Amino acid sequence: MVQAVVGANWGDEGKGKITDMLAEKADIVIRFQGGANAGHTIVNDYGKFALHTLPSGVFYSHITNIIGNGVALNIPTLVGEIKSIVDRGVPEPKIMVSDRAQVVMSYHILLDQYEEERLGGKSFGSTKSGIAPFYSDKYAKIGFQVSELFDDEILEEKAARVCEIKNVTIQHLYHKPALKKEDIVKELRQYRDMIAPYVCDVSSFLYQALKDGKQILLEGQLGSLKDPDHGIYPMVTSSSTLAAYGAIGAGIPPYEIKRIVTVCKAYSSAVGAGAFVSEIFGDEAEELRRRGGDGGEYGATTGRPRRVGWFDCVASSYGCRVQGTTEVVFTVLDVLGYLDEIPVCVAYEIDGEQTTEFPTASKLNRAKPVIEKLPGWKTDIRGIRKYEDLPENCRNYIEFVEKKIGFPIAMISNGPGRKDIIYR
Ligand code: GDP
Repeated sequence: MVQAVVGANWGDEGKGKITDMLAEKADIVIRFQGGANAGHTIVNDYGKFALHTLPSGVFYSHITNIIGNGVALNIPTLVGEIKSIVDRGVPEPKIMVSDRAQVVMSYHILLDQYEEERLGGKSFGSTKSGIAPFYSDKYAKIGFQVSELFDDEILEEKAARVCEIKNVTIQHLYHKPALKKEDIVKELRQYRDMIAPYVCDVSSFLYQALKDGKQILLEGQLGSLKDPDHGIYPMVTSSSTLAAYGAIGAGIPPYEIKRIVTVCKAYSSAVGAGAFVSEIFGDEAEELRRRGGDGGEYGATTGRPRRVGWFDCVASSYGCRVQGTTEVVFTVLDVLGYLDEIPVCVAYEIDGEQTTEFPTASKLNRAKPVIEKLPGWKTDIRGIRKYEDLPENCRNYIEFVEKKIGFPIAMISNGPGRKDIIYR
């Protein structure tokens, strides 16, 4: 059976924790898209970890962790991350990297930086990890597939082509030093040596695993609203963040994905630029940011303060819908315990008209939030394990949101740890 854990919002919904929790009963955990640009924070018996590229199953020795073909594979980051967890006492995890995954090159990262520099204030708020240049090259068919690392002739030939194409932009648009073929080939050979122990034919491994009835978890990065097709284009990421893409980015049949567990946060947060209708500012925002997540809403990769706002029913309902949600996990609810009243964005007003349909990005920029206020519960709900034990106002908030988004909330997360979960 395959289940996907994906985000309904802008990312940082707490997917890492939920994957780590569900992984206990899984045999295989797969990253199927994205790269080392986002972080998943996991708190467990070994400590607190921010993973950027490793699947969240690495803390269990019974799990095979897979980097699927859809991932932007940063080899030094992957190898460094494995070392960093092992150094902190985690047993050497089982890792497999798809021979069809493609490699993030140092020039992808440089190009990302050069472009952000060029755009100045109009930048997309990229994490500068080379993700957009990487995926552009993949689809322009000048990327390097892991399988190609083992063929010197291909490497020489393709590296020469890359220099021809990239150096025009690098020298004439960015006015930076040209790439050298020898450097690219050297980098690729280093990557080959580093990644060789992990490479395998993932698609065929998974074909057999499915036949054997193994439990498989697909771990999404970011959330629906960052999807290049269904999100707030162009303020999106460069690979699909939707569960459906799990089939492609891992190499499994789409009909095998039976459960789509969509993680939805009890308030909103976002990194980077782009429309954010329910965003709040000033002292009100500072307080939520400081109390948010586990130790404040600051990016796991960049440390940047995240933008924060109230729960957005319009965006979350849409976010759940495009994921094909079978159940919702409502996370970080404990953080809202300080509020007398909890504002919720229940609709948008666009050009004088109210709507609950999430619009395309150009219209979204003109949307204003329609806010309803619910009474707060004014207590700390951490440690509660039963739904009935939650304060009434807290249950009302959950049930209000559930009705508005139109998908069942099956689990509630009331703390960062593995055990901080309430099943309904
Ligand atoms: P991801 O990218 O979706 O995995 O999310 P992040 O890990 O970036 O952000 C979630 C943050 O919230 C992390 O610091 C988690 O430890 C923390 N977190 C997850 N679930 C909860 C929860 O229910 N309550 C609190 N207070 N923190 C949580």
